[in-house]
Amino acid sequence: MTDRYASFVQTGAGRALVKRLGLPDPPRLRRHTPGGPLAPGPVLLGSATGGRLAEPVGKILTAAGVELADPAAAPDATSRFAALVYDATGITDSTELRQLYDFFHPRARAVLPSGRVVVLGTPPAECGSPREATAQRALEGLTRSIGKEFGRGVTAQLVYVTPGGDAGTPVSLEATLRFLLSGRSAYVSGQVIRVGTGTATVPADWDRPLDGQVVLVTGAARGIGAALAGVLARDGARVVALDVPDAGDALAAVTNEIGGSAVQLDLTAPDAPTRLAEHLAGRHGRVDVVVHNAGITRDRTLGRMDADRWDSVIDVNLSSQERINDVLLERDLIPAGGRIVSVSSIAGIAGNRGQTNYATSKAGVIGLVDSLAPVLGGRGISLNAVAPGFIETRLTARMPLVLREAGRRMNSLAQGGLPVDVAETIGWLAWPATGAVSGNLIRVCGQSLLGA
Ligand code: NAD
Repeated sequence: MTDRYASFVQTGAGRALVKRLGLPDPPRLRRHTPGGPLAPGPVLLGSATGGRLAEPVGKILTAAGVELADPAAAPDATSRFAALVYDATGITDSTELRQLYDFFHPRARAVLPSGRVVVLGTPPAECGSPREATAQRALEGLTRSIGKEFGRGVTAQLVYVTPGGDAGTPVSLEATLRFLLSGRSAYVSGQVIRVGTGTATVPADWDRPLDGQVVLVTGAARGIGAALAGVLARDGARVVALDVPDAGDALAAVTNEIGGSAVQLDLTAPDAPTRLAEHLAGRHGRVDVVVHNAGITRDRTLGRMDADRWDSVIDVNLSSQERINDVLLERDLIPAGGRIVSVSSIAGIAGNRGQTNYATSKAGVIGLVDSLAPVLGGRGISLNAVAPGFIETRLTARMPLVLREAGRRMNSLAQGGLPVDVAETIGWLAWPATGAVSGNLIRVCGQSLLGA
């Protein structure tokens, strides 16, 4: 599905019209190419007085081959940066928030197109005093506003890092910075990411961060799931791709291309969890990563919705995830260091007219992550959710024109995301290096105004 408007604005005539009429101006986003540099230009790393993360982050970025700009150099009108990274952990009182203004104000136009802003803070719940917690909570407003203001494909995120965390914390912070600075996070903006504690291992090669991992992807025959299978295989995973028997041909095409294995199974069948568990145990002896991606919509306003529409959506999108988790965990098929990623939706955050069933199921997915992630933490397994916004797939291609255009443009990047954008985000949450990121809900929505 192509966004003709976005292609048109890249032409000479399109550019002139956009300028004259003040129309939305979707920029071409930088996306990941394996082997490419992490940041396509210098990165400026700043810090509030007493920040605890600037030093380790400086080491991480230098080791990753990033060119660091001189933080002592006075801001000038010609400097351009691929990213501004700011350690705000030293801010312990609202009167010290002025340091944010002093750093970002003179550099508000200094970020390159598709550049990045990353603010690092301390989780408010883990601060030493109410004043510190207040100041750290304030960082969210700054970051989300920068995401809405800077334009030209620049994204902004706040990363809360647990102080004095275990060895998994710096590894997962590195993994998170690598995700955020790269083109992998092209359509993620305005997010708050929490790096806590947990088992995390450094990959031998950051270009193959999933090397040797056995990964199950449900709903892999098309759309986001097919893109996901491709991204995970590119990153080194052995992909087990699952979909309904009716989608067998499409599923085979996906697995043939990536060299993965296919499982034809309807997730709602009563014996689906045990059949899946037996397949994984027999073929691989384990499953390191489970991605619950399969999902359906059966839209009607509530008054017109028959019970079948309600039941099938809740069952595919939510209950089947619970049943599969239960059996795989009971049989110890997900080892310590394992990852579960569930696909939710911004409809689960904001609700949506005509989608009471879908929004209920997707909000339930968020509840699943909130409630189960702390329990799984004890077993060294992380659990996170991603909430896609408007993604260019068959699902969104079927929307009425006006709604479709509104969905595409009503976000900070003025365009829909691509399946690969959701896939890259899920991939990052699946890395062995990301274990200290758990219990998060990450929106892949270009900072959509829905549910904001
Ligand atoms: P899609 O319809 O293109 O693909 C979903 C896949 O899941 C299909 O291949 C389908 O056969 C499979 N599936 C459905 N029921 C199944 C079952 N019972 N057993 C096994 N497989 C089953 O959808 P998509 O757009 O790629 O969406 C993927 C996920 O992302 C879904 O969970 C969806 O709710 C979510 N999502 C999508 C968007 C978007 O804009 N496309 C936005 C928010 C959330």
